[in-house]
Amino acid sequence: MALVFQVLASGSKGNAVYVAGGSTALLVDAGLSAKEIMRRLESAGLDPKGLSAVLLSHEHNDHIRGVGVLSRRRGLPVYLTQGCLEALPPQLGELASVHLIQSGRSFRLGDLTVHPFSLSHDAADPVGFLFEHDGCRLAVCTDCGTATQLVRTRLRHCHGLIVEANHDVERLMNGPYTWPLKQRIRSRHGHLSNDECCDLLRDVHHENLQIVVMAHLSEINNHPQLVQDTLGYRLERDRWAHVRFFIAAQDHPAPLCELSP
Ligand SMILES: [Zn+2]
Ligand SMILES: [Zn+2]
Repeated sequence: MALVFQVLASGSKGNAVYVAGGSTALLVDAGLSAKEIMRRLESAGLDPKGLSAVLLSHEHNDHIRGVGVLSRRRGLPVYLTQGCLEALPPQLGELASVHLIQSGRSFRLGDLTVHPFSLSHDAADPVGFLFEHDGCRLAVCTDCGTATQLVRTRLRHCHGLIVEANHDVERLMNGPYTWPLKQRIRSRHGHLSNDECCDLLRDVHHENLQIVVMAHLSEINNHPQLVQDTLGYRLERDRWAHVRFFIAAQDHPAPLCELSP
């Protein structure tokens, strides 16, 4: 078993990704209640007792909601940036233990090597994660207003990608959100659109890219069919034939994915 992952939930109501390599398993974000995270892990046949840690990308509620209870109940250490720690709401309560991480400073977590990298998003010190195990690489990169050079570099040689396809620009601009909120989402510190996501994918494409999960879809400003359509007309069919695509959902987990070197 090389590197395994499963998007348990994705979207503005809650995010959590299961990542495992060797004998180490962890969660990126815990944006559902601890109970719901447990339920989703168990329903996917994954053992919550096997978790070693929770890594937080940033302090927005849809990424942290269950982290307090989960950390205390399971004794799980939480890895997060100083900015994220300081911005956590007090009502989350104590965390079992805290490990500070920094963009650009890689660390070992059991059998996994983790490379956090800065994201452009309206949070205190948001990061994406590149995981490495046994020659396999997976990047988790959502809540990202613009795909910076750093993001592109980090995503370039990955075998698996979880990337943000937050909104369809036309649907957002013609939709019910207030003008300031539309502006925020479109800004460099907001969220990636379907088109921007596809541009990023075109840029980081390589022969050994195996799986792409389109994630953090807005329920109001996007639709899986719109994502599918954008992939269809932005990515050349032949060039992308070897890549499996999934669209992550809010209310149920995406399939368990396995990467090989
Ligand atoms: Zn989010
Ligand atoms: Zn966010």
